[in-house]
Amino acid sequence: MTYLSKSQLAEFEQCEKRFWLARHRPELATVEDPTVFAAGHAVGAVARSNLPTGRLIEERDPQAAIAATSEALAAPDRAPIFEAAFLHAGVYVRTDILEPTADGWRLAEVKSSSSVKHYQVADVATQVWTARGAGLPLTEAVVRLVDNSFVYAGAGDYRGLLKDVVVDDKLTTLLTDRESVARAAGVTAAGEEPAKAVGDHCADPFACPFTGHCRAGLPPGPDFPVTLLPGRAGKAKAAELMAQGITDLRHAPRESLVAANELRIYDACKSGEAFHDREAMAAATAAWAYPRSFLDFETVGPAIPRWAGTRPFQAIPFQFSCHVQGADGALAHHCFLDLSGVDPRRGCAEALLAVLGDRGAIVTYNLPTERGVIIALAEQFADLRAGLLACAERLVDALPLVRAHYYHPQMMGSYSIKAVLPAVVPTLSYGDLDEVNDGLAAQRAYLEAIDPGVTEDRRRTLHERLTAYCRLDTLAMVELVGTLCAPQASTSSTHTS
Ligand code: SF4
Repeated sequence: MTYLSKSQLAEFEQCEKRFWLARHRPELATVEDPTVFAAGHAVGAVARSNLPTGRLIEERDPQAAIAATSEALAAPDRAPIFEAAFLHAGVYVRTDILEPTADGWRLAEVKSSSSVKHYQVADVATQVWTARGAGLPLTEAVVRLVDNSFVYAGAGDYRGLLKDVVVDDKLTTLLTDRESVARAAGVTAAGEEPAKAVGDHCADPFACPFTGHCRAGLPPGPDFPVTLLPGRAGKAKAAELMAQGITDLRHAPRESLVAANELRIYDACKSGEAFHDREAMAAATAAWAYPRSFLDFETVGPAIPRWAGTRPFQAIPFQFSCHVQGADGALAHHCFLDLSGVDPRRGCAEALLAVLGDRGAIVTYNLPTERGVIIALAEQFADLRAGLLACAERLVDALPLVRAHYYHPQMMGSYSIKAVLPAVVPTLSYGDLDEVNDGLAAQRAYLEAIDPGVTEDRRRTLHERLTAYCRLDTLAMVELVGTLCAPQASTSSTHTS
C-alpha cells in the first residue's frame, strides 16, 4: 500500500506537477546537494541529545513503525519519543519529537533556522492532523528552532541552543484544509502529468529539482528580461511590465521607468553600450589614501556553534585576502587561512592587524560585511580592540560607486563582483577556478578541510583552492577600482605576490 508523506504533501502544495513528477518520473530530477541537509541533521541530533531518556522508533517499515509507536506511547515511563509514526486517511508521518505533557503529548518539529517559516507551519499542521486523526491526544505543537542568542560554553554543552515557538494558533486554517489537500494530492497522483507553467513558485519555498525538465523545450526568453531589474522595487516594476505583456526590458516605454538605476540599466540594454561616469568614480575615490588595502573575508556561520564563546550563525572569519597597493601601483598580496579546526578568530585578528598597519584606505566591496567581522573581532579581543576599531574607521566601499556610476549590459542586473568583473576585466575570471568559486563553495571546502578525517593531500588541495579563490576576490577589486575609477582610460600596475 502506498501512502502520502508530509514531504509529498509539501511538494504538492508548492506545485502539483512537482509532486506528480517526484512520484512518476523521479529520474528527471537533478540530484540535490547532500550538504544542504547536513545542518538540519546536526540540529536534530542536538535536539535528541537534549532529551537523554528519549526513545527512538528505529523501524523503517511503516506498519512496524506504527506498532512500535503504539508500544512507546503506552509505556508507563512516558519517555519522549523520536520519529513516532502515524497513519491517517492515507497520510503517513514521522514526527521529530513527542514529549509527554500532563494530559497528552507535545509535538516538536526541529528546524535549523532561527525563525518560523510558513512552510514549516504547514508541515506541522500535516503532522498534527495525521497524529490526531490516528488517535493521539496532542495538546501542543511547537517548532523547535535555533536560538541565535545562545552562547556556546564549550565541552559539547548545547543545553539552551534550541527554543520552542508554539504554533497552535497558526494551525487553525491549515488543519481544516489538510483533508482536502490530501484528497487532491491523491487524485493528482492517480492522474496524468499536470500542466503547469514555470513561475515564481518553482523556487518558493524551495528550488524545484525538475526545473531543467520543465524549461526544456520552452522558447528562449528575451536577452534582457524585465526581471533583471534589481531590488524589490525592480521586481515590482518587472511584475507591472509583465502584466502589460512586456517581457523584454528593451520594449518597455522609457517613461515607465523612474528610478535612476533602472533608467541606466534600460539605456545600457537598449544601446548595448556600458554606462560609465568615470569622472564621478575618480572624484569619489581620489581621497582613498595609499597604501590601499583591498580586503575580503571568508566566513562560516554554523547553526551549531563549534567554538566556545560563539553564537549560532555567527560569521566566523577563517580566511582573508588582502592586496596592498602603493601609490606607485605596486601590489603585494597577503593572506590568512586557518585549516587547523581550532577557533580561527585570534589568528585572523592578529594577522589582520599585521597586514593592514595603521594607514591608508581599506577597500571593500560591500563594506557592512567586512566591518561586521572586524567589529566582532574587536569585541572579542580586548587587547586588540583599539587597533581593530581603528581599521574599521579606514574602511571604504567600492560597491555603492559601481551601483551609482557603472552598468554594463553583460551584468544582467547584478552588481556582485562576479557579475561586474567579466564586463570590466574580461581577462580575470572566476570560471577558471577549480572547485572553490563562490562563498558557499568556500564554506564547504573549509568545513571539509577541518574535518579530522580528511587526508593531508586533500587538505592541501583545499588550501590551494581556497587561497586562489579569496585572492581573486581582492585582485578583482584592485582591477575594478583601477579600471573604473582612474581619471585616465586605464592604469597599469605591477604585481608581486
Ligand atoms: S519546475 Fe516549476 S512548474 Fe515544473 S515541476 Fe517544478 S515547480 Fe512545478
